[in-house]
Amino acid sequence: MSWHGQSVAGSGGLVLGVVQKLDDRHHIIPEYKIKKTQHESEFRRFSQAILQARLSLQNEMIMLKEHPHAHELLPILESHHLMLSDPELEVGTKRFIEQDCINTEWALKRCLARFEQAFEHMDDVYLKSRKADISQVGQRIFQCLGTSPQATNQAQSIMLAVDFSPTDVVSMWRDGVAGFVASQGGKDSHTMIVARGVGLTGLVGTHDLFDQAEDGDILLLNAEDNTWRLNPTADECLAYELKQQQLDEKRNELKAYASQPSQSKDGYHLPLLANIEFVEEVDIALQYGVDGIGLFRTEFLFMQSDTLPCEEEQAAYYQQIVQGMGDKPITFRLLDVGADKLAHVQAMFGDYDGENPALGLRGVRMLLRNPGILKTQLRAILSCAKTSDISILVPMVVSVNEMIAVRKQLQEAKLELGIQQDIALGCMIEVPAAALIAEDLAKVSDFFSIGSNDLVQYGLAVDRSDEHVGYLYDVNHTAIKRLIQMAVDAAIKRDIPITVCGELAANTSWTQTFLNMQISGLSMTARHVLAVRKQLRAL
Ligand code: PEP
Ligand code: MG
Repeated sequence: MSWHGQSVAGSGGLVLGVVQKLDDRHHIIPEYKIKKTQHESEFRRFSQAILQARLSLQNEMIMLKEHPHAHELLPILESHHLMLSDPELEVGTKRFIEQDCINTEWALKRCLARFEQAFEHMDDVYLKSRKADISQVGQRIFQCLGTSPQATNQAQSIMLAVDFSPTDVVSMWRDGVAGFVASQGGKDSHTMIVARGVGLTGLVGTHDLFDQAEDGDILLLNAEDNTWRLNPTADECLAYELKQQQLDEKRNELKAYASQPSQSKDGYHLPLLANIEFVEEVDIALQYGVDGIGLFRTEFLFMQSDTLPCEEEQAAYYQQIVQGMGDKPITFRLLDVGADKLAHVQAMFGDYDGENPALGLRGVRMLLRNPGILKTQLRAILSCAKTSDISILVPMVVSVNEMIAVRKQLQEAKLELGIQQDIALGCMIEVPAAALIAEDLAKVSDFFSIGSNDLVQYGLAVDRSDEHVGYLYDVNHTAIKRLIQMAVDAAIKRDIPITVCGELAANTSWTQTFLNMQISGLSMTARHVLAVRKQLRAL
């Protein structure tokens, strides 16, 4: 049956592939039909898995008894044990195996979904909240069934999941996956930003596609106009090929701009820079002829490891970036662990569990709370200062004092390392408060960089990763234009450079406006540089 639909956002590109569904821990849950003769062996597999899951849980409970927080943790595991012993779990799963002739994993998934629905409809808030336990119990059984995390080369596969983190996107890209689809997510979420950066075709905010699709279905993603087609007809596949050709031609035509200067028709030089997250993106950026790196989001290095990277590790990583970029300028953005990245680095900062991380300890707030982390990062970045043109950007600034405090640490780090040259320290304008006090911030900053992604998020009170409010995420809102203009006016008044490093920088309908505003540079996902340069050269 052919289905089609619209998503909230796409990362660009067209792809035709085979659906591979992942569970919420990104394990592949195999779904296939079985013969009647296989029922008995599937029953046995399931009974053994349940037994194994119960045993492992019992062992954990015994070990936990000595733990100082045993009184909080044990009741949770006890409730999991009760669920595992619930006859309805076993009977229900086996019923699905038998009636629908499906494999154990698929049957278990259906049975768990029934349980979850039952909890969902409960009036009791406490019982409703136990829904998460069902999924944890399910994961335990899936593990015992030998369901393994996805890896390996999946050149034809389009991965479907409820959500993907930015690091998931990078591993899929490294594994050679054809594309991905997430039910959740917004246009300028970091997942989308990274997907655009590495050039992996994907859609976010597709709502019900996950439920409609089955493993092995053919899926056509059009991440140019944010649409999808499940099990397309032969005619639709033909139309896809035609569109793919047109897209290739458009891309080829743009290649000519990679070697041209970033200059308007009347000679105004507007540097076009790249936003990068990973060292692998340096080569991509160079291919597109960028004039430098305007935003290196350093937090992704931290997200790839379980422990805090030490000064030497950070320095080695940063040096790879600067060496790759040669003599082109690079702006390092200090660690900014936003709400959508928190889960990966939480443990490093003492299990921070603010109720609302987007409004909590992120960016400069977290750095000033952990001066050791800030100093180590500054020293690691400064190790590149002798050989390269570097500057440093401070995220999530809302007060003059935050800039002064970071500058103090920078001076100390320079002194410790015997570095005398000036290192420009810039302030991100990404919270409305920063735009409103831009004149004061300009006195303590060497440059500004407008982070339009967060400026829209905080300016319009719209979570950038939430597909439900995606329709409100509007960079053209008058309030956003006014905030940007305020920052620009302050920068011009104090004669400091001001760049734009949010996704807005790549919006060609804004290029003329940026020129009129006398913006000093635009930093964006590297592959967008060519279209912006084409636009710039025509103005
Ligand atoms: C921004 O907020 O616009 C920005 C560039 O930073 P990030 O997207 O990493 O939050
Ligand atoms: Mg930001």
